[in-house]
Amino acid sequence: MDFDRVRVAEERALLEHLSEIFNAEVVGSFLARHQEQHKDKRLTFSLRENLLPITESFAPSLHVAAHECITALGYSGKAIEFFISNAKEINAASIYTADHVATHHIILNAGLIDALTEAELRFVIGHEIGHLIYKHSFLRSIVSLVYPEFEQMPPYPAIRFVEWSKLCEMSADRIGLLAAGEFRIAASAMLKISSGLGLDHFGDSIDSYLVLVEDILELLKEDSSASTQTHPGNPLRIKALHDFDRSALRAAIGSGDRGDASGLPDDQELQERVSQLTQLMKRTPGSAEEQASTDFLAAAGFTLLSSDKEISESELSYLGNTLAAHFHAPRELLQSLVESGKLPEVLQKSSEFIATSAPHLRHSLMQRLFPVTTRDGRFRAEEAEAFMKIGTELLHLPERDLVAMVLVGLRQTFSPAS
Ligand SMILES: [Zn+2]
Repeated sequence: MDFDRVRVAEERALLEHLSEIFNAEVVGSFLARHQEQHKDKRLTFSLRENLLPITESFAPSLHVAAHECITALGYSGKAIEFFISNAKEINAASIYTADHVATHHIILNAGLIDALTEAELRFVIGHEIGHLIYKHSFLRSIVSLVYPEFEQMPPYPAIRFVEWSKLCEMSADRIGLLAAGEFRIAASAMLKISSGLGLDHFGDSIDSYLVLVEDILELLKEDSSASTQTHPGNPLRIKALHDFDRSALRAAIGSGDRGDASGLPDDQELQERVSQLTQLMKRTPGSAEEQASTDFLAAAGFTLLSSDKEISESELSYLGNTLAAHFHAPRELLQSLVESGKLPEVLQKSSEFIATSAPHLRHSLMQRLFPVTTRDGRFRAEEAEAFMKIGTELLHLPERDLVAMVLVGLRQTFSPAS
């Protein structure tokens, strides 16, 4: 099967972007060389020591289900071994292994097996196979090599990585659906996993849940700052899968001979629907105050970094990370601001709003901007002057506050000749 066509297009695009940022290909080649040199089998041993294998003789019905999923999908990658863990959480995991290990691994928790019907388990198994097919763990391993503590990651790559992780679930859900065959089965599996409720609680309630999902999405459209992160039903994922289920792409894959579905269409309509949904999980300013702060940081920040006529990549990436706290695509925001020719107007309007309606934000906004002036290891007169001008003339801050801010900022962020 042409799995690449089945994949959520935005997920692939964002993966390419993040791979570029992390130089994933080069870093990955060193990880692979290291694994090849050490041929570390500890993982495989510890799995066998701690988990029960799903084999033909030991857990025959699960074994059949797992292998029927592989056949239904036409999966022809490296062999997969399945295990059961004694964990009670309704969850599963997949481990994409290095070349020297003979099989990839999928682990089903006991809690999952207890709570789901066999048909629903096929959705989960297919979902985990989906993660393996798309090598989702490849980027993950690079990111955790570079930033072992997630909190250490700068804001921009961090928010895009979180966004990508959610999109990965949507891509894997499609493979899960193809393995399970029916949307209702996939949806009830997803609902059980995300709500923690077991068998017999849902029955025919999937339709009413879908109505509920529509209501939640309407709410989100009104205020996209409202988070769906903790909603037990995972409305965006279920809706995205429902859209896929009713798409031309899904129809082309067909429900019968799924092993041979070459020549799948590039389903633009589905991509459009999904991107309307994923828009709802992207970071955007949630209030007029936050909108003004974002506009101000972008316009004043760009004014500062271009004041010395030399725009350095490190200054741009500092500003991008600062803006990422409010907006998911800071570079695009800056670019459109500059290209539209509206920068002076945006700077004027946002400053006015902040000075009159949110004066308490003025100090912190200027503090966040200051490192733009020192980021390239220089503190030039033009940058210093532009900083003072923005603070005094646009935000009406007292000059002495700004002078003190500059001195503290220099001590904290200025590293000449470093
Ligand atoms: Zn997953």
